Parts: sequence; C-alpha cells; structure tokens
Amino acid sequence: MSDEIWVLAEFVGDQVAQASSEALGAAKRSAEAGGRRVVAVVLGRDGGDPALRSLGAADTVLTVQDPGLKDFSPALHVRVLEALLSDRKPRLVLMGNTAAGLELGPDLSARLGSPLIAYCRNLEFSGDTVVGTTQLYGGKLLLEVETAAAQVLAMVAAGSFPAVTEERDVLVEAIASPVSLADPETVFLGLEVAETADVDITQADVLISVGRGIGDAGNISLAEELAEALGGVVSASRPVVDQGWLTKSRQVGKSGKTVKPKLYLAAGISGAPEHLEGMRDADLIVAINTDAAAPIFEVADYGVVGDCTEILPALTEAVSSQG
Ligand SMILES: Cc1cc2nc3c(=O)[nH]c(=O)nc-3n(C[C@H](O)[C@H](O)[C@H](O)COP(=O)(O)OP(=O)(O)OC[C@H]3O[C@@H](n4cnc5c(N)ncnc54)[C@H](O)[C@@H]3O)c2cc1C
Repeated sequence: MSDEIWVLAEFVGDQVAQASSEALGAAKRSAEAGGRRVVAVVLGRDGGDPALRSLGAADTVLTVQDPGLKDFSPALHVRVLEALLSDRKPRLVLMGNTAAGLELGPDLSARLGSPLIAYCRNLEFSGDTVVGTTQLYGGKLLLEVETAAAQVLAMVAAGSFPAVTEERDVLVEAIASPVSLADPETVFLGLEVAETADVDITQADVLISVGRGIGDAGNISLAEELAEALGGVVSASRPVVDQGWLTKSRQVGKSGKTVKPKLYLAAGISGAPEHLEGMRDADLIVAINTDAAAPIFEVADYGVVGDCTEILPALTEAVSSQG
C-alpha cells in the first residue's frame, strides 16, 4: 500500500487557501503518526511558480503544469485527478469541504470506487485502517466510520484541524497533464468575485453575533460597540444578513462561515441547527436570549435570559470601565 497522503491544494491568488492549510494540518498529523509522506497536489501552476513555496508544510509538491488547469474547471480537474489517482494510488486523498471539494470529492469517489468521508471532522489511522468522523444533520450527529480500502478520499470540514502553513523551497515534481484536456464538457468563462469581505470573521478571536432578536438595523451598533471594546468583530445569523442589516461575509452557519473564536457571544439568536453548525466549536459560548428554552442555551457555557438591547450596552459599559 502507498505511504502517500495527498492534499488537493486550492489557492486564493498566490496564497494557499485556508481550507487547504487545514487539510495539510490533517495530513501532517496522520503522516507523522504513521511514517507517511505528504504530497500537495496543484493543478495549473508552473513548477517554478513562487506561490508553491506556501505549500512548504508538505514533503513534496506535485504540479500539473498545463495553464488550462489554472482556473477551476470541474470537468477537467476531475479528468486529470482521476488519471493521477489511478496511476499513483495514494493511500489517502484530502481536500477542503469547499465548493471545489464538493465538485471533486463525490465525482472522484464514484469514478474510482474509493470511499469518501465527507464533512470530515477527525481522521486517523488505526494500523492500516482509516478512521474518520463525519457529521450528519448539520453537525447534530457525529458518525465514526472506518475503512481499510486501498484508497480513501476525505473532504475536511472547515475549522476541524489546525491550519499548517510554512513558506519554504519545497521539492517540486512538475509534470504535463496525463490526459488530453481537449473538448471539455464545461468551459471556464470567467471568475466573478463575490462582494469584498470587509472582515474575515473566521480569523477573529472574539465574535459578537447578532440574530433576529436584535430587533432592527439600528441596534446593530450595540453589538459593534461591545465588539470594539473587546477587540472583536460583529457576525450574524442568516435572517440579519437576509434583511440586509449586515453583509453576507458576516454570516455564521451552514450557508455562511464556520468560526472557532475564543469567545462567541450570541445575542438574540435562537440556536437553529444550521446556525450551530457554524459556531458550536467556539472555545467559549455566551448566549443572551429572552426565551429561557431557546436551544442556543444547550451549547452555551454561560447564558443570560434577558433583552440583548439592554444587556449589550451594559456589557460594553462594564468592559470599558475596566480601562
Ligand atoms: C439550508 C439552510 C441553510 C441555512 N443556513 C443558515 C446559516 O448559515 N446561518 C444561520 O444563522 N441560519 C441559517 N439557516 C436558517 C436557520 O434555520 C434559522 O432560521 C436561523 O438561524 C434563525 O436565526 P435567528 O436565531 O437569528 O432567528 P430566530 O430563530 O427567529 O431567533 C431569534 C431569537 O431571538 C430571541 N429574542 C427575541 N427578542 C430578543 C431580545 N430583545 N433579546 C434577546 N433575545 C431575543 C428569540 O427568543 C429567539 O430565540 C439556514 C436554513 C436552511 C434551511
């Protein structure tokens, strides 16, 4: 059996994507425990591309140099990866549970007959068996799965493994595409960049998160003031974003971002499964809600039953008075 663990690396500009750094973290952990090698796989970049230095956490980089692969094209990427995985047979293939991962993982799994662990929250080897934890029902259930298959694919859920980044001159193997890229089933037309994120809530240590219970757009400033006093930023549940009170980049949850801050203060958020999916792994959760039976209290370390429009300013005052 191969001793290689592959990480399908995605880039944002010239920097390795957070999801791929976390997949590298998962790969490194499994590799160190079992004397295996980590190979970062890149499609569409030249072997001399300086951006490959950001994959220094891997033992080696394998890049398929064809410029036709630089922009993500599911049909072409699957075609190339299917050929590479069949030929080289790495034992474990990790990718982010991202839009690209969701395209590649299931397709490759079906083509290669290799099992896929989607929404993977934990992963380790037990001898030659791969043991993974996958989440169901938006994280309400965690399921442990194991497989001794010769090749296993896994899509790493955001925030589940520590991101590993290292800038260095890593050994690069640059190859031509092993298959023809002619006549793709789909054609890349262009990249439409979503609204510019004013802030990256996934990197914040303190999040003051507001839900529908905040009442109206004018009250968001109450959360902003507390966030400023604590050196944090404001995030939100989906209804707040849907109403246009905050931008989509601030949304936490299933269709938003997964966050893991040191402090997550949920103000006027009920705790629907789709919201919990994005924040339940925060180090410390504090909830403010007028309804003592709100499900958010089931995951909160501290809870206050009360009106958040009164409690948020009181907290800001208390923090500010500490100097
Ligand atoms: C496919 C899908 C994806 C989804 N993705 C997401 C997602 O990414 N993120 C997300 O958040 N949701 C998502 N949702 C929606 C989710 O199901 C919930 O509807 C949403 O999380 C509820 O938001 P909320 O808690 O702000 O509002 P509500 O559920 O309406 O809760 C408001 C809470 O505020 C409390 N409250 C009212 N007044 C006050 C006050 N003055 N002070 C304190 N508390 C008060 C109420 O008691 C209540 O508990 C998704 C749903 C689906 C179907």
